[in-house]
Amino acid sequence: MDAYALDPRTTVLIGSITSGMMAIVLSLLARATPLPVPGLWTWVGGAWLVFSGLLMLGLRDWIPPLLTVTLGNGALMMAYILWLAGTHRHLGQRIRWAPWLVAWGLVTAVITWFILVEPSFRVRTVVVAGLCTYVSAHHALVLARHPRAERFGRSIGVSLTITWLLILAVVYGARTLHAAAYAQGSTGLLTQDAIQIVYTGSFTICNLMLVIGFATMASDHVRARIEDQATHDPLTGALNRQALMDSLERERARSMRTGQPFSVAMLDVDHFKKINDSHGHPVGDRVLVHLSRRMSALVRPNDVVARYGGEEFIIVMPETSLAAALQAGQRILVNAVQIEDQALPAFTISIGLAQWSSADNSVETVIARADAALYAAKANGRNRVEVGGSAISV
Ligand code: GH3
Ligand code: MG
Ligand code: MG
Repeated sequence: MDAYALDPRTTVLIGSITSGMMAIVLSLLARATPLPVPGLWTWVGGAWLVFSGLLMLGLRDWIPPLLTVTLGNGALMMAYILWLAGTHRHLGQRIRWAPWLVAWGLVTAVITWFILVEPSFRVRTVVVAGLCTYVSAHHALVLARHPRAERFGRSIGVSLTITWLLILAVVYGARTLHAAAYAQGSTGLLTQDAIQIVYTGSFTICNLMLVIGFATMASDHVRARIEDQATHDPLTGALNRQALMDSLERERARSMRTGQPFSVAMLDVDHFKKINDSHGHPVGDRVLVHLSRRMSALVRPNDVVARYGGEEFIIVMPETSLAAALQAGQRILVNAVQIEDQALPAFTISIGLAQWSSADNSVETVIARADAALYAAKANGRNRVEVGGSAISV
């Protein structure tokens, strides 16, 4: 050891130790997660394979070549494929195993030949680094392309993982081209050579950052699920009462600022008790789910559909006058109760409408007016829309 302070064996073994530590951290995280995270255990498996692959590569010359070169590289390549499989699972997709297993088997066979029969570090490097380049670049694309990843577009985990997969692909790509273009002076990964240290050091950093990326994606997932549960009604998927009040407060503040009105519709299923009594509670539940879905499909994207209580819903219509809300209410009255599913009983709803007025001193007053209008709709025979009284001046 002369010009360099580090030798490749040291960097490979440091890589193995850090990946082992990261594998422990990821395993603990997977055990402790409060909600199941799809794909997390597959990522954990990949992290342990990186650790064992690097360990075997670092023991070169001390254990038989079949163990170190074949199994070491085999484990490393399988780790990248497992990480890809974990991401597919995380995104709710299934990986097509066959082509990956075939590619892995072929490359493993080639490196076994080129270590046992016709030793060539150059050929081994080209095929192993080539496959790793492809897997990493493909993995980054899978993550970048998936619509759910777009939904989490601002999530640090997805961006972090894509970034480090691309860096890994570039490093592996450079290594592939380098080995293909120039006959390597070296005979193996652990030959004293500055460029080997640069490569092995870069892989170590990439592997480390990728595990951090997966851990961050897992915690993003848990946070998104918990936020969802905190703001949505579990039966219908509509916003819950707390989220409704937050949304009404936002609209109130906006109306005060801009002078634009907003309207509120309160909807209640007619004679819902009878539906429960004659068809059973589960059918009643399905009526509520159906109604909630239909309403969400019928309103504008900015409108908010929330479950206010039992079989009562509230729709908040931003920047909507009472006249426009009346049109929407009539459309909902007719269309929200349409049933494609023959197993559901026919039902009707009543709707009370109210518009926010600058005279209102809280969102409760506009709700009270919508409630009074709903009461009037019930009193006037149900299956109708009524408009809540009192002065409307924004
Ligand atoms: P009206 O036309 O006057 O609104 O008559 P109604 O029968 O709908 O009157 P009411 O509001 O008193 O009845 C509401 C019923 O809704 C009572 C309650 O058992 C039922 N209910 C409340 N929440 C749920 C639920 O989540 N699922 C089911 N299936 N029923 C519910
Ligand atoms: Mg009712
Ligand atoms: Mg009711």
